[in-house]
Order: sequence, then C-alpha cells, then structure tokens
Amino acid sequence: MIIKIKLNLKVCAASLPTTMGLVAGLLAQNLLKFFLNFGEIAYLQSYNALLNFFDNSILLPNPSCNDENCLKRQMEFEKKVLIK
Ligand SMILES: [Zn+2]
Repeated sequence: MIIKIKLNLKVCAASLPTTMGLVAGLLAQNLLKFFLNFGEIAYLQSYNALLNFFDNSILLPNPSCNDENCLKRQMEFEKKVLIK
C-alpha cells in the first residue's frame, strides 16, 4: 500500500509566531511599567483587528473564591492598585 502525503505549501506558517512575538513584547512593556511605577498599565491585553481597537479594561478575580491565598492576593491587589 502506497500512502501519498500532499503538503500544502501555500499556508504562511510565520504569522502565528510573529503575532505571539508582538503580544509578548507588549506584555513585557506592561510588566516594566508595573515594576518601575510609570505610565498606564493594561491589565487585559486584547486587540480587535476589525475595528483597530485595543481594549483597556480590567479583568477582576472572583471575590467569593474558595482559595484563601487567592483572597489574600485580591486584598493586596485592591490596596496596591485599585485604591490609589
Ligand atoms: Zn481565586
């Protein structure tokens, strides 16, 4: 039995790693702003290419989480970031 494999060479495989590299760069820049205390930090990075829009909202954790360490971190986050 002969199995023929047809490769589709028309697909651009470079687009996903390029996009991942760009997003990683934006996140690294946000991390530097957070640790060096300057600029405006994006807590949620999302981009709508159709509307050319960068979303700048904040994704909050569950206040009734079962993990007590998670609740401690939430309190720290509220004191440090939300109440300035
Ligand atoms: Zn939690």
